[in-house]
Amino acid sequence: MEKEQINVTTPLMPPLEELTPYLEEIWKSRHITNEGVYHAALEEALRAYLDVPYLSLFTNGTTALACALNVLGITGEVITTPYSFVATTHALWMNGLRPVFADIHPADQNLDPAKIEQAITPETNAILPVHVYGHACATEEIREIARRHQLKVIYDAAHAFGVKQGSRSLLLAGDLSVLSFNATKVYNTVEGGAIISHDLDTKKRIDRIRSFGFETETNIPHPGTNGKLDEIRAAYGLVGLRHVDEAIRARQRVAAYYRQHLDAVEGLTLPDTKEGYTSNYAYFPIFIDAEAFGISRDQLNEKMKKEKILCRRYFYPLITAFAPYREIVSADPANLPVAHRMANGVLCLPIHHLLTEKDLERVVHTIVSK
Ligand SMILES: *Cc1c(COP(=O)(O)O)cnc(C)c1O
Repeated sequence: MEKEQINVTTPLMPPLEELTPYLEEIWKSRHITNEGVYHAALEEALRAYLDVPYLSLFTNGTTALACALNVLGITGEVITTPYSFVATTHALWMNGLRPVFADIHPADQNLDPAKIEQAITPETNAILPVHVYGHACATEEIREIARRHQLKVIYDAAHAFGVKQGSRSLLLAGDLSVLSFNATKVYNTVEGGAIISHDLDTKKRIDRIRSFGFETETNIPHPGTNGKLDEIRAAYGLVGLRHVDEAIRARQRVAAYYRQHLDAVEGLTLPDTKEGYTSNYAYFPIFIDAEAFGISRDQLNEKMKKEKILCRRYFYPLITAFAPYREIVSADPANLPVAHRMANGVLCLPIHHLLTEKDLERVVHTIVSK
């Protein structure tokens, strides 16, 4: 029998029969975009679910990131990580900002606070860290560095949907946090994103930038873009939100299975579980030490492909390897030894809410049967 393909992720989709009544309402009203009733309802539902003071929906995470940097009026240099999805740095480029890359910490693959400090110059205005795999950055240390040097902190929280530090949302760290609701993420609106802010004035300014800068029909105090989420995706998101807890629990079972069966395998390092933090099980990265494991990361990835198991090498290549960024002084591999080592060893295993026990057995068997 032909083996079924196991995908690294699959979108959480609302049951059609639950979505249909919403679509019928939208068709009836003919109000399909421009901040309608479902847009307002989803903003409030997500704000409450994530337990944050203010949330602004966006059409995707990259636009939200670019608007977050813009609304804070960031100029000059921004310290960021090479170990992320390329959109993180592209958002700087979209604002005419200069990325300065600092190395990551091997325990959590997030920006290393000591390396942030070393990268600060008189031109530095902000830090753009990423909660990679949904694992919290060293938010306290970063806050202290930002305070001492008067820098803004914008978190790329694209992976961190629903993650908490103790009883508090991780999305409250920094001046602004940005989410992505792309289909590959734990929670999605097909495409979408959001900015989390701390005060109503900032939210209002974010919402104006999202809609061409309009304050009123006749007043545009500041330029803006079009970052609006439409009613159809807002309805999809509202229904999807009812199912996200169940999906996260299913991911948790996948992570527990991998941990149980792979923890003792020589040459593999599993993701750190930090005490006091909830996880959303967005990714399951393993780090392969080729010598101890017996085969390299790329050899394992090829072997998985032959078995129709699709993994992803998040985050290889590093952002600093891409043409627009590789000539930047701080992109020199000698400046980023930890990021290079992690990028060369990482493989993200399939993790999503539809994986079966049989799928997981196949994944683990393929890894351990060398
Ligand atoms: C997905 C992602 C983004 C971009 O979000 P989109 O909604 O796809 O535009 C940004 N940063 C990181 C780390 C991501 O994983």
